[in-house]
Amino acid sequence: MTRHTGHCTCGRTEWIATLDPDQESHILCHCGTCKSLSGGTCTLNQIVPRENVQVTKGEESLGCYTYTGNSGKPVHCYYCPNCTAHIYHHQTVLGDDKIVLRTGLLDDGLERFEPKAEVWGKARLPWEKEVAETYEMLPQGAPIE
Ligand SMILES: [Zn+2]
Ligand SMILES: [Zn+2]
Repeated sequence: MTRHTGHCTCGRTEWIATLDPDQESHILCHCGTCKSLSGGTCTLNQIVPRENVQVTKGEESLGCYTYTGNSGKPVHCYYCPNCTAHIYHHQTVLGDDKIVLRTGLLDDGLERFEPKAEVWGKARLPWEKEVAETYEMLPQGAPIE
């Protein structure tokens, strides 16, 4: 297990993620919500145990945006209330003990981690190349939100 620090754009929020080697990689999500929340073509994520992510600064003031996922169950998106950087999402369909961490916001994650999987491939833009095996379900078999 390796500790990875992360911080938001403005610095008001900081966190530490403790990851297994097989979690030190990106799952690219091409879904419409990821596109509109990020303003980009996809987001970079990993599914990790909730207990392995600690918000060490600004936790008490985190914002939470909730929407209904494809499963019909809520998805809670936690973000810095000042700069709006998204830190992690809780897809309740995955249970209370798992969260979806934004690996691109880990200080050493964006450049060092490799893409390991892609989800929502049908929403990949025509000019984007497939860079990892694409799944229409999450690796755990849960619906993709
Ligand atoms: Zn911030
Ligand atoms: Zn997504």
